[in-house]
Amino acid sequence: MGNAMRTDVVIVGCGHGGAQAAIALRQRKFAGSIAMIGEEPELPYERPPLSKDYLAQEKPFERIMIRPAAFWAEREVEMLTGRRVVTVDPQAHVVTTDDGTTIGYGQLIWATGGHPRRIACEGHDLAGVHSVRSRADVDRMIAELGSTERVVVIGGGYIGLEAAAVLSKLGKRVTVLEALDRVLARVAGEALSRFYEGEHRAHGVDVRLGARVERIAGTDGRVTGVALADGEIIAAEMVIVGIGILPAVEPLMAAGAEGGNGVAVDEHGRTSLPDIFAVGDCALHANGFAGGMAIRLESVQNANDMATTVAKAITGEPEAYHAVPWFWSNQYDLRLQTVGLSTGHDRAILRGDPASRSFSIVYLKQGRVIALDCVNAARDYVQGRALVLTRATADPDRIADSNTALKELSGP
Ligand SMILES: Cc1cc2nc3c(=O)[nH]c(=O)nc-3n(C[C@H](O)[C@H](O)[C@H](O)COP(=O)(O)OP(=O)(O)OC[C@H]3O[C@@H](n4cnc5c(N)ncnc54)[C@H](O)[C@@H]3O)c2cc1C
Repeated sequence: MGNAMRTDVVIVGCGHGGAQAAIALRQRKFAGSIAMIGEEPELPYERPPLSKDYLAQEKPFERIMIRPAAFWAEREVEMLTGRRVVTVDPQAHVVTTDDGTTIGYGQLIWATGGHPRRIACEGHDLAGVHSVRSRADVDRMIAELGSTERVVVIGGGYIGLEAAAVLSKLGKRVTVLEALDRVLARVAGEALSRFYEGEHRAHGVDVRLGARVERIAGTDGRVTGVALADGEIIAAEMVIVGIGILPAVEPLMAAGAEGGNGVAVDEHGRTSLPDIFAVGDCALHANGFAGGMAIRLESVQNANDMATTVAKAITGEPEAYHAVPWFWSNQYDLRLQTVGLSTGHDRAILRGDPASRSFSIVYLKQGRVIALDCVNAARDYVQGRALVLTRATADPDRIADSNTALKELSGP
């Protein structure tokens, strides 16, 4: 495919956002040509199972594919996998891939997610040090499990904790090192952090808070442990680094797109460059559920909903992005479901008893419900959604009373 050939819509990134963009375009009867370019060799697959059932080897790869191969062929979505887009020329409307191919586009959808943030210390590149972002990452981990007894997880975010849960269930001795004074500090209120710390400890995971990693130790190029600032060395055959991602937007930034921590988009997913949209983890957007602040969200919901928004803009039915954020995390037999964004809350109300392992936390800001974290409490999650959507006000005592259904509280 060369410059002379122009694909109507080129999607860069074959992950959740990219796949949904193609699906939504065809659902909306978009008849033009569509090509997807992806760095990974696989057709689009679901990322959440990577730190859950796929790592646990309870689900084979075929079962985590977003659609079977035939789906893309039937809908005439050309799949150019195993290549990375390295440059974008917004004037000529052309992208170039790492194998030197140039592909012309009418409209470009940038859906590249992010690259795992590397830990900046000695030993970060030793064999046995892993991140959890792609199928290849997890396949490498699985291949080493047989020779692994002890695992250190650096970073107490969702991905690190999910991996810790799987690996401890597989009988590994797991230590979680969190630099802050609680796990999940970036995404959840303190009560939820304390609950998950307790659960992991009860399952035999050594959760260390305020831990300062000095270096990753190794012999003959292979990891042997993690050295802390206080001199302690925690022995391990495997180290997992789960300290977040950096949005994969270098080619767009080099082409002059606005942004910083991600590429800036408007409410239709348009970047500042002509005919270039962006969706998903890499898209910095003003979010109504974050008080209008420009944020990036890292969730399947956000990738899918932004992709649908962009498909609507391209097919001439524009509708501004205003989807309520939701997310889930599975650890042990705990299913956490969150709705809304709790950042900036000034009050957190507990519903139910964490000791029963089924409870919710309702977050308020200036008396209005902005988010819920629900642990094994699907009913609260479903009913709480309406409270978040309407930013409902409700009597805190009634919110705290788990005998009162949340749907009885709805109202502005
Ligand atoms: C282990 C793990 C567990 C998760 N669990 C949950 C969960 O439980 N619930 C939830 O809601 N979310 C979860 N997430 C987050 C969710 O998977 C992401 O938010 C979602 O995948 C974002 O979709 P995306 O399309 O923006 O990016 P991705 O799905 O990451 O897709 C981006 C694709 O673009 C490719 N790419 C990057 N740069 C280029 C380039 N220059 N050229 C070509 N291709 C490129 C990448 O290789 C990748 O394949 C999890 C993520 C991980 C890694």
